Amino acid sequence: MSLESTVRFHFPKSQSFSGTAPNTSPDTLTGTDYIAGMGMTMARAPMGYSAFMGKVGVSENDARRAVSLLTEYALQTCDKVAALRKLESDIKPAVMQTLATYAYMDYCQSAASVKPCECCKATGFIDADVFTMKSRFGTQRPGVVTEIKRLDEPLPENTSYQVRDVERILCPECKGKCVVSSACRDCKGRGRAVMKAESEKQGVPVMGDCKRCGGRGYERIPAVEAFRAICEITQSISLATWDRSGKPFYDQLIGKLEIEETWANAALIKVTA
Ligand SMILES: [Zn+2]
Ligand SMILES: [Zn+2]
Repeated sequence: MSLESTVRFHFPKSQSFSGTAPNTSPDTLTGTDYIAGMGMTMARAPMGYSAFMGKVGVSENDARRAVSLLTEYALQTCDKVAALRKLESDIKPAVMQTLATYAYMDYCQSAASVKPCECCKATGFIDADVFTMKSRFGTQRPGVVTEIKRLDEPLPENTSYQVRDVERILCPECKGKCVVSSACRDCKGRGRAVMKAESEKQGVPVMGDCKRCGGRGYERIPAVEAFRAICEITQSISLATWDRSGKPFYDQLIGKLEIEETWANAALIKVTA
């Protein structure tokens, strides 16, 4: 049994959509087997187990546990990076917790995740310029169309003019939902896209890893957001230092979660085989 397949134990409704017939699937375990298997996995690969369970939304406690285990790991390993080693001992844990939190958020990103809409700053509405055509008729039909910027100017007769108003309208990006999908815009979350140059050369559509998202299918949380968050705690790390040694350390924390998930998966498959 893989970690992925445990999700249906927690969200039984999804079982009816899985397409596997009840009780005939080789994955079927008794409740006791299941609990024992999960317990052993939790003990053998605690970070990967809780990271996965938090990611798929089984438990908030697991998400918190994953972040705290990753914070511990970060504290144990950060001294290899000079800029982090030099941090004052009273702020180091806070910096590591922030990095671990952002790393965990990035790890949880998927094509199904949502992020706050930047267009409307997650309010669902934006201010838009609305132009209305107004006319000032004399005895004749209007002939001139001009935009009047200053409405206190005396208006000539027989003139059509535009009045600019600012109106609050539904945000066109998120349609008022305040959040937008994290799925990559180029490949719509598939991770594969038509390679333009190669397709033109060969005369047939050639698929390859999407360039925009590097084949992940979704946008990552920009690492600079993690940097901005640690700047709230300390000013001692410059952007140049972050780029040179902070960001590689942060990327390694994200990688650590992925490795730990793979370990937890392998452990679960082994104990339930
Ligand atoms: Zn919006
Ligand atoms: Zn893409």
